[in-house]
Amino acid sequence: APPAKVLSVVELRKQYGATVAVDGLSFDVGRHEIVGLLGSNGAGKTTTINMVLGLLEPSSGSIHIEGVDLARHRTRALAHTNFAAIYAPLPGNLTVQQNLRTFGLLYGVKRLSERIEELITQLELARFRDVRCGVLSSGEQTRVTLAKALINRPALLLLDEPTASLDPMTARDIRARIRDFASRGEGGVLWTSHNMYEVEEVCDRVLIVSRGKIVLQGDPRALPAQYGKATLEELFI
Ligand code: ATP
Repeated sequence: APPAKVLSVVELRKQYGATVAVDGLSFDVGRHEIVGLLGSNGAGKTTTINMVLGLLEPSSGSIHIEGVDLARHRTRALAHTNFAAIYAPLPGNLTVQQNLRTFGLLYGVKRLSERIEELITQLELARFRDVRCGVLSSGEQTRVTLAKALINRPALLLLDEPTASLDPMTARDIRARIRDFASRGEGGVLWTSHNMYEVEEVCDRVLIVSRGKIVLQGDPRALPAQYGKATLEELFI
């Protein structure tokens, strides 16, 4: 059976000269879970995500993805992840199908044509199959970006402000689709956002980070009351 934790981070640290960007973070993400990584600008969220993605070498600490040690078995660990920065533009001159094929080949996805069809159906992209991504609306592009992020059936999906530039209806739609991904047990999600309304709606658990350390964590709907606050926003230091 696959491990219950898709991500396990222990005593993770990243230091730049005298600046400690990440200061001993330890947390897990379960297979059915959406975990929010919250904090003010400069708290250390991006640095953490970049280390989990293998883009940045930790100063110390360990990262296991789907039980595989990232430092020791990099390729095998990263095969279980994918990333979607929804604001990053798609190659605009490729059609939806060509885009998905390109990324599928990059990840060495088996039975790629079937996987592409599955995602085209799931994300309601059939009408746009042969349309160049550059002409799609941002909501449509977001669905393509999500399809691209799911192409390799990641156990761990990293989402950096996935709804930042979307209208409320489209943002709601994307949240629902990501919720489905987690509740079906396809994988777990680490989600960063500055939108506390969204966090309360979508996250099972939040980690509030300040100066590279977790200062509070728990159910985003219960946390504020536990600390005598009315809203999640008021918990920020
Ligand atoms: P935001 O919400 O603005 O994206 P963040 O939580 O993602 O913020 P990080 O980008 O992880 O924050 O930055 C954490 C700290 O580390 C900041 O103080 C930043 O200045 C510092 N930092 C990040 N990268 C470097 C680097 N390459 N060299 C020096 N300092 C860095």
